Amino acid sequence: MFEKHLKKLDDQHLLRRLRTIASATGPTVLLDGREIILLSSNNYLGLATHPTVVEAAIEATRRYGAGSGAARLVCGTLTPHETLDATLARFKGTEAALTFAAGYLTNISVIPALIAKDGLIFADRLCHASLIDGCRLSGATFRVYRHRDMHHLEQLLARRPAGRPTLIVTDGLFSMDGDIAPMKDLVPLAERYGAEIYVDDAHGTGILGRTGRGTLEHCEVESRVPYHMGTLSKAIGSAGGYVVGSATVIAYLLNTCRAFIYTTAPPPATAAAATAAIQVIEQEPQRRARLWQNRERLAQGLNRLGFRLAASESPILPIIVGDPDRAMNLAQALIEHGVYAPAIRPPTVPPATSRIRLTITADHTNEQIDRALAALERAGRSLNLI
Ligand SMILES: *Cc1c(COP(=O)(O)O)cnc(C)c1O
Repeated sequence: MFEKHLKKLDDQHLLRRLRTIASATGPTVLLDGREIILLSSNNYLGLATHPTVVEAAIEATRRYGAGSGAARLVCGTLTPHETLDATLARFKGTEAALTFAAGYLTNISVIPALIAKDGLIFADRLCHASLIDGCRLSGATFRVYRHRDMHHLEQLLARRPAGRPTLIVTDGLFSMDGDIAPMKDLVPLAERYGAEIYVDDAHGTGILGRTGRGTLEHCEVESRVPYHMGTLSKAIGSAGGYVVGSATVIAYLLNTCRAFIYTTAPPPATAAAATAAIQVIEQEPQRRARLWQNRERLAQGLNRLGFRLAASESPILPIIVGDPDRAMNLAQALIEHGVYAPAIRPPTVPPATSRIRLTITADHTNEQIDRALAALERAGRSLNLI
């Protein structure tokens, strides 16, 4: 059965394999003994390797050890976890925050805590898999609306049976397309129909908004969205997930979320690294500026070359290829020309939209971006994509 399944995936060009990177995930990485430009990490601000962040992780490990010993409710919350919660709440301007071991765990436990089986969930069709899994686990009735389509969402809201608690679920910045949820329209719609909103700002946090607080700051709706989640694993450069909100919401989640209660607290090092990274985001706005300059340079270059791009508004710049085998061929050609950006295929993205999801970071130099564009040009031409 296992072999049959794997063979079928391979025949459909959907088999996934791991590739070993023998270095930190910086602007370049060591792949098969060769230095290659990395255009696929979510380490947007380069904070995973920022000296202050790395030093904070080392210092926390020296002081508090490699592991946390137990869940936070069982053997006490270590200072680095408590400091991280407080730092997040201050950064996001909320009363409180709660951190989890991963963004995935946050979504699969917070959504079921927010909505009961008799509730309704309306989710954007392109929401992240962890959101879909959270919706399914909740047992609530679950419908998707067309991507960013507020008319469709309104139809669903208007036609729902009266009196059903309703949760609208969306990514802030969409992970595989790089576009932004229309929060300026979504928030009044939710208010009009008495629905709650759950935003996953995994990719927006740190990079969107005047001060990097994310999608809600960017769309100027922070005061109207009482809680939301994000991850510490993308721009923040560490690992983990979080929810920010009122002290009451956070106390409720601490008492209800199974993926908080029944899992060991993350290592002190990851919490301390995340705290240091948030401080860097506040103190070094030039990193965000540099990220957006790099994004413009890469986007303009890709447009000039004539690639078919998704309608991105962010440092996530997907080249839509279509069939999975063509996306695999492009990824392989890119490796040969010195750029690492794996193909993203179904079920991560809808059928016939296999793509190379390029991401740029603040740490890429102009010279690296230009070299990457030259590699993209050669690879794209060899496959008749441009
Ligand atoms: C990466 C991601 C997650 C999961 O976060 P992890 O910390 O990697 O588990 C959740 N939601 C979105 C939108 C993501 O991109």
